[in-house]
Formats: sequence, C-alpha cells, structure tokens
Amino acid sequence: MTEPSRHPIDIEDIREAAHLIRGKVVRTPMKRSRFLSLVAGAEVNLKLETLQTTGSFKLRGATCAIQRLDASSRTRGVVCCSTGNHGRAVAHAAQLAGIPATVCLSRSVPAHKSRAIAALGARIVIAGVDQDEAQRETERLVAEDGLVEIPPFDHPDVVAGQGTIGLEILEDCPHLDGIAVPLSGGGLAGGIALAAKSINPAIRVIGYSACGEMAMIESMRAGVPVALPERPTLADALHGGIGENNRLTLELCRALLDEVRSVPEVEIYRAIRTLLVHEGVVAEGAAAIGVSGLFGGDWRDASVAVIVSGGNIDPAHLAAIRAGKPVIVEDDAGQPPLQVDPQGA
Ligand SMILES: *Cc1c(COP(=O)(O)O)cnc(C)c1O
Repeated sequence: MTEPSRHPIDIEDIREAAHLIRGKVVRTPMKRSRFLSLVAGAEVNLKLETLQTTGSFKLRGATCAIQRLDASSRTRGVVCCSTGNHGRAVAHAAQLAGIPATVCLSRSVPAHKSRAIAALGARIVIAGVDQDEAQRETERLVAEDGLVEIPPFDHPDVVAGQGTIGLEILEDCPHLDGIAVPLSGGGLAGGIALAAKSINPAIRVIGYSACGEMAMIESMRAGVPVALPERPTLADALHGGIGENNRLTLELCRALLDEVRSVPEVEIYRAIRTLLVHEGVVAEGAAAIGVSGLFGGDWRDASVAVIVSGGNIDPAHLAAIRAGKPVIVEDDAGQPPLQVDPQGA
C-alpha cells in the first residue's frame, strides 16, 4: 500500500526548480483587488501570471524541464503537444537554451496562439482535431525521430516548475487561507497545492474547470483517467484529457485539492470582463476562471490568492467582451461554434 502523503515529488524539488528558473522567468506580482475583495467579502489577491514572459505560467515548468536536459537530449531537440501556451513556453525556453523545438498542435488551437509559437522559431506540426491526436503525433516523433518530449503537465520537472508559484504567493502573503486555481491537466494545481500545503497544511485549495472540460474532475471522482470529448470553450487553454497513463497529476490532485468546481461559460465571460474592467488585467478564459468562485461565495471571510494563469486571449474575443457583446467561439474540429451571450444567462 502506498502512503497517501508521499508523492513522487516534494517541496525540495520545487525549491530546486525555483533556483533553476531564477532569472529566466518573471517573478510575478500579487495584486490586492479592492473591488473583488468587496464583492467576495474576502481579502482577494491576484497572482498575475498574465505578466509572465510568453503570457502564461507554462514558462516555469517548461524552463525547469529544459534546464535539466542532458547534452544528448539537447542535441536531439524537444517536442511537445499543447493547447498553445505550453508550446509557446517550450519554444521560448528551447530558443533561449539553443535547442531545436517541435510543437504539435491540434486544429482546435486558436490561430493567434500558433502564430506566436512560430514566431519563436519552433517547427509546428498540425496534428488532428484534439489534444489526444496531437499527443499521439508527439509520441510518434519521440519514437521515430528520437526527439525528447516535454509534457504539458504530467512530468515531475514540469509540476515542480509550476509549483514555484506556490512558494512565491506564500512569500508575499504568509497568512493566506486559500488558493483558487484553474484546473485542466493538473500540473498547475498539483504543483501549487504541494508547495503551499507543505508550508501550511491548513491552506484550502479549490480547482476550477470549465463545464465543457471536466476530464480531471471526472477522473478524480473515478480514481482513474477518464477521457471526455473536447467542447468549444472560452477557456481554450483548459482543453484536453489527463492522459490515459497519467503518472503524477491525478494522484496529486486527488490528494491535495480540497474541492473542485465546474464553471459555466457565461461565468467565465463575466470573470474575464470583471478583471478587464475593474483591474485592467487582460486574462484569457482559463486564467479568469478562478474569479468565478469569488462571486459564488467560495471564499467568504478568507484571505485568498486567485491564480490568474495567463493573458493570451483571442483579440476578437477580448474586443467583444470589452464591449459587453456576445462572443462566438469557433471550433475548427468540426463541432458547431459556441455562442456565449452575457445577456442570455
Ligand atoms: C495550461 C493552462 C492551465 C491549466 O494548467 P494544467 O496544469 O493543465 O491544469 C490554466 N491556465 C492557463 C492559461 C494555461 O495555459
């Protein structure tokens, strides 16, 4: 029987990761929100990974994993599949280290994200309609061309890199009661929860997923990886399953997340707009999702850090949301487009 409190990585791995990535990623600020504190009846601090280089926290895990590669892996080059932000992070970190990078994207990845990856010199392979197919292409390139995979979440170095956010928020806010974190593959939530609870086990961590992207929530309930079809969502960075051979993040999330929530699209819309209008923060859907818990009463009377995980929002969506107009989320994988109408709630 395995000891539930023992995981394949621990706080020392996260501290080492912090050391490895120092100077290569931005130490992002925590910003107190007066408006959201009033709304939530709480003390609300926003951890602004929107200000991270490449526009999302994914640079932390990617940099940590790439920094650890040996000489032979560096010559062979790296490959990853991605909903966009991880690919951009890998492309940037690889370019900085002088390593060739290949990024496999499914057709559901927004064009503005694939353009940003190409601009960093990475080779892009468009593979299939969803994350699972992009993952299979990644595995083929590993098997046939000998490339080294940098996974988007289920890897100890990646989780340790994302966990450095947990160290920083507790440095800035030692009296924290809780953390609201977006949840997809669970690298972000698992890493942060591991760091924070190792320092203070009383801290509550709640994970937020989009209603259409609940693979991790369903897997946590089932105790084994559950595959679900992708659906169009404003939180496109949360697309994808957790991998049928998940090694690390499912166990971490089951052990360390106190609760999970699934958030409807109109609430994601409202969260993006609130950050934009009241804080001047440009957050993408996946990143704004934790704000919905403030409206929902999750954090009354608590001091909470909301992880605003990235800012790479589709410019057309941003313009519509700023104007309070409906947003159409196109889906290139063949499903009908999703219309999110703030009046239609
Ligand atoms: C990848 C990503 C997430 C989810 O992270 P996981 O480790 O897959 O749970 C959340 N927000 C943004 C902006 C992302 O790019």
